[in-house]
Parts: sequence; C-alpha cells; structure tokens
Amino acid sequence: MSRFERVLVVDWSANSTPKLGADSIWIGRAGKHPQPPENIATRAATMDVLRGEIGAALAAGERLLIAFDIGFGFPRGFAEHLTGRAEALAVWDWLADRIEDDAQNRNNRFEVAAAINRRFPGIGPFWGRPNTRDLADLPAKGNAREGHGLEELRATEAICSGAHPMWKLYTTGSVGSQSLLAQAHLARLRAEFAEVLRVWPMEAPDRLVVLAETYLSLIDPAVKAARGYACKDAAQVDLLARAFHRADMAQLMAAPAAPEILREEGWILGAGHDAALLANLPDPALTPPRLRNDCFAMPQGVDWVPVDLALERLRAALHPLTRMEEVATHQAGGRVLAAPLHARRANPPAANSAVDGYGFAHASLAGDGPYTLPLVTGRAAAGQPFAGTVPAGQAIRVLTGAILPAGVDTVVLEEDCASDGARVAFDGPVKPRANTRKAGEDVGADAAFLPAGRVLTPADLALASALGVGRVAVHERLRVGVLSTGDELLSDPETEALPHQIYDANRPMLLEIARRWGYAPVDLGQCKDDPAQITAALDRGAQDCDVILTSGGASAGDEDHVSRLLREQGNLSSWRIALKPGRPLALALWQGVPVLGLPGNPVAALVCTLIFGRPALSLMAGSGWYNPQGFLVEAAFSKRKKAGRREYLRARLDTEGRAEVFRSEGSGRISGLSWAEGLVELPDGAASIEPGIMVRYLPFTSFGL
Ligand code: AMP
Ligand code: MG
Repeated sequence: MSRFERVLVVDWSANSTPKLGADSIWIGRAGKHPQPPENIATRAATMDVLRGEIGAALAAGERLLIAFDIGFGFPRGFAEHLTGRAEALAVWDWLADRIEDDAQNRNNRFEVAAAINRRFPGIGPFWGRPNTRDLADLPAKGNAREGHGLEELRATEAICSGAHPMWKLYTTGSVGSQSLLAQAHLARLRAEFAEVLRVWPMEAPDRLVVLAETYLSLIDPAVKAARGYACKDAAQVDLLARAFHRADMAQLMAAPAAPEILREEGWILGAGHDAALLANLPDPALTPPRLRNDCFAMPQGVDWVPVDLALERLRAALHPLTRMEEVATHQAGGRVLAAPLHARRANPPAANSAVDGYGFAHASLAGDGPYTLPLVTGRAAAGQPFAGTVPAGQAIRVLTGAILPAGVDTVVLEEDCASDGARVAFDGPVKPRANTRKAGEDVGADAAFLPAGRVLTPADLALASALGVGRVAVHERLRVGVLSTGDELLSDPETEALPHQIYDANRPMLLEIARRWGYAPVDLGQCKDDPAQITAALDRGAQDCDVILTSGGASAGDEDHVSRLLREQGNLSSWRIALKPGRPLALALWQGVPVLGLPGNPVAALVCTLIFGRPALSLMAGSGWYNPQGFLVEAAFSKRKKAGRREYLRARLDTEGRAEVFRSEGSGRISGLSWAEGLVELPDGAASIEPGIMVRYLPFTSFGL
C-alpha cells in the first residue's frame, strides 16, 4: 500500500470554453508509465483520458493514484446543511445531479452556486462571478457576504500557505469553481468504478484506484527551479506526480485529522509534508533541462532535433548570394532588391490639386461667406500648368492633378460652387489648403523608400516608377536544382508504367514552387538509387545551381543512398527532425553548394519544403530569413497528439473560417495536398484538439504559393 505504480496529477480548470496552454488542464504522469505533461482542452476530454488510464491500470493490475488540484470538500457545516449528511461525498452526488458541463466546457456552475446560496441564511457563502452574469444570490464581491454561518477555510487549508477559500468562484485561484465542476465529474466517475475506486481520505484507500485532492504549490521551490517546461502548470503536474510516486504513501495518507473532519471536509494530500515531497525530487541545481524528456520525448538513443532548433541551425549555416544585376523597374517584379532604393524625385513633385474645382489664395476670403470671386482667364489641368499668377481676390478653374498656379493655395470642390464662366460663388467655411496636396507629402526627394532584401511587389513597381527610379539593382535569381531519386520513379506520366513503377510527383511540384518563389528552377531530372548516378547528378547540380533540392532516399533505410553519399562525401550535417510528416531531412554541402535532402513522400516533401526550404531559400536569395505568417483560427476537427514532434496537417478553412483537416493523415495521400489550402501547425508538446479550440493556420499563400 505504500506505493502506487502509476501516479497522475491533474491541474483542473474551470474554463468555460475549450482552452489549451497555461491555465488550462494539464496531466502529469509518473511511475511505471511516465509521460510528458499532457495538455487537454476540455473537462469532458479529460474525463475520457482518466477513464482510459483507469482501464489500463485495472488491466495491468497496477495501483493508480489520481490527485487533483481542487478541493474535495467544503468547510464544516456545509455538507450537512446542503444534503442532510455531514459527508463531502454526499455533496459530490448532490452536485452530480445538478451540474451541467458539456463537451465544449459550457457549464452552469454560477447558477448552481447561486442556488446553493439560496439554501443558506444571509448572503453567501459562494461569491465571485463575471460582470456579465447578474445572479441575484451570488454576490460579485466577497465582502458583500454576511450571515451564512460558515468558516472561510477548511482545517487542511489552514496549514497550506496561500490556499484559496472554496467559496471563491472567480478570478485568480478560483478553486471554488473548479471544485464544483470537478466534484460533479468525479462523483460520476466514482459511481462508474464503484468496486475498484476509493476517494481518500473519506474512504480507506484500499482499492486499485485512489482519488485524492492535492495542492500544486506544495512543491513550489522545485517548480521555480525547473527548466524546459511548456509552462508552470506543466512543471507542477510533472514534478508533483514524480514526488508522489517516490513518496511513502502510508505516511502521507496516515490519518492527518479526526475522522469526522476527513469525512466532511476532506484533506489535501501532502499538506504539511512539503519537505518530504521536495526531498523526493532531484536537486534542481543538478537537474539538466528537461526539454528533451518533456517536450520532445523520443526513443532512447535517437537524436531528434526539434523543428525550431533545426531552423536556427539552418539559418546560421547559410549565406545570401552576392551576385547582382541591374534590371528595368518594370521587369523587376518578384526580384530581390540588392540595395535600398532612393527617390530621384518627390511624390508629388509639386503641390497640386486633389480635386476638380476652383483655386485661389485663402487670404482672399473675407468674412464668413458666401463668397464670390472673379475668374481669371485660362485654367490649370494635369499636364497643362497655368503659366501666370492668380491675383489676390481672384480664382481660377483647376482640375485634379494640376500644379497649383502661383497665387493659389486652396481649392474648393466643383460640386460646392456655382459659376457663370466669369465668376465663381461658394459657401464657407473653407479651410486653408483644402483639397490640395503638398509637394513631397508622400515621399520626399532622395528619401530611401525600399530596403535591400525587399521582394518587389506590383505596388513597389508603381512606387519606384513614380519616384523616377527606372532601373534597380537586384540579386541574381537563385538557381534551384531539383533532383528526384528512386528506382521506382518514371519521369513522364505519358509513358506506360509497370506495376512497380510510379510517376515522379515531386519534381514538377518542386520546380513550380521554385518558379513561384521567383527563383530560377533547374531541372536535374531523376536518377536511380545508384550512388554513381546520384553523384553525377549532384556534381551537375553543383555546377549549375546555388542550392539543390533532392527528394527520396533521405531516411536511413537500405536504399537511402542520398543520405549515405551526403554523409560520406558531402559532409552531411543533419538531421532527424522532430516533425510530422517528413522527418528524414538531410542538409549537407556538395562541393560547397547546399543540398536539402527532402523525404521522398510528396506530402512530407512539400511540408519540409515549406517549413525549411522557404526560409532557407529566402535567406540565400537575399530576402532574408522568413517566418510564415500564421493566424489562430478555430479548429473544426478533433485530434490528440503525443509530445515529441511538431505536426503539420493538411488543412483549409471551411465556410465559417474554421480549420478543417484532410480526412486522412496518410502521408502518401497526394490528393490531400491538392485539397489543402494551408497547414495547421500543432505544437511540439502533447495536445488534445477539439472543435472550437484555437489552432495555428498557415495558409499556402503565406509561403508564397
Ligand atoms: P524515400 O524517401 O525514398 O524512402 O521515399 C518515400 C516514399 O516516397 C516512397 O513510397 C517512394 O516511392 C515515394 N517517392 C519518392 N520519391 C518520389 C517522387 N519523386 N514522387 C512520388 N513519390 C515518391
Ligand atoms: Mg526512395
């Protein structure tokens, strides 16, 4: 009885919508089956995970402790007044009959708390609610309560510094809300597993599964010193689970108070044993960062590189090309500026009129209007300036884009005027310089207006032309070689294929990507899985290209000649990347030319090209490292992933703007690539995605496709 083979610590949450990250649900697992902390978006999904854990423990005949960071009971007197029995578990059942909490975390806890308050004298005991929830019997502030007759804290909370009272339902440390929801869920779990599950300390912990409440702050010093966790919650559940697993449970669970207190109020597992728990954890000073184990759990002995680290190394390893050329501005779309552009001329070059109307000197207007001014003969139009000076007190017809004639600083709109051809009349007030543009108000002469590295857009061509820049210095187009490898490949989809042959799908895709990115694609063809052929192709590529993309033969299988060659002759510097799909990615130099050895699988090849190729090639092309612009959208799908690998799912937005994913994750499904309009990026750590959860969506357009 003194040890549990399996320990789970659950950081529960009262969120009203699905949520991941800090302040959501985290589960730490220690013991026989340790796992990195798992983050779950909803309480419903969490309960399913716990049911699965209980099932697994029962199947293995192993003892399982599940400790929750909530309160299992309320201060003395509450249970009896509410249920007629001085037992915390009676309150659980009472709540289970009333609490509603759906798969999206929508719940009625505030209503139930208000209903409880109604059963007590005075005001309270529960308090705290969002401003938007005006519930008559649930005061927003704690000091509005009176006469409910209950203590603030339970006996166990009195010995845990910083513990929040169970009555508080809202804002920081609103353990009350979490507990109302959890007690209802756990009552149902308890009924389901009645034979094999016990709740400590209300019941003797003498069955395989034991539930207990705990307090994550018990091990604060260890949490403060811990490194490499996704967030504090992740560190807390992981470390406390480890501490419980090593602890002598007979000692921790030995009756800490009188039986009637334990039965009615419950007790925090570990309260008063902080030092013993901390002693179970390794000295933080000697604990290496837990990054690898927690966030990137990988099979032992395999050196997986996290995506961000691989990107960092790639970035450090590459240099921009230095060859430049000068091209006409109108032909420079998509090219990369090699030097900043300076305005040869201001925009606008001279003050001009923004509208069709009548111009004059503002000083000519006396009083409040209406005004009548005589018109000078002639007019000023775009491209047809007025040569003379407009005398004070007179006006002139002007058209949009016309340079303001001497003597004119203000224009009234044609539609606001009446004119008989000799005079113009209009009403006030008129602001000085109305409807005019100042010289250089957009860009001044000589101003630097576009930086080096800029990939010129259509609008840039408009701007450069307006500013008198007719030729621009650009980087030479990056020459991107594309080579397919594999004995099974057939180049031409029009030739008949034998059963063991497949048509080369990667090469057309990669060549088109290079073209769309504004580079010069170089078709290096395809070759068999034959070292001599691959060597010859790479030699050719090194001659004619600035960078080479190969696909196929990048993993460590028998036929993976590309990897082997690169390792032997090309000083392979990489890597198994913790990425799905597409981890066999090789990076090497072949005669000084960078080679990106992409996986053969077209789905993986595309993902690797977007995630690694896009920034790498952008840097080499002179336009700098590149981070795709993603945005958060609601998921329209469910998915659980383990910690260890960043995952990219083929996705697109549905009519409501939510991300849907392709029906199959099979990495051979090329139809899914074509179906998709972007990728959903799931983080390296574990995650449970439910519809409505926010996920990061990277549209293909953000990769320049
Ligand atoms: P490899 O990376 O060579 O182990 O290839 C992985 C998978 O991708 C295998 O099923 C290959 O047949 C397939 N594959 C490799 N290259 C291509 C290609 N260029 N087009 C289509 N499928 C390919
Ligand atoms: Mg192959």
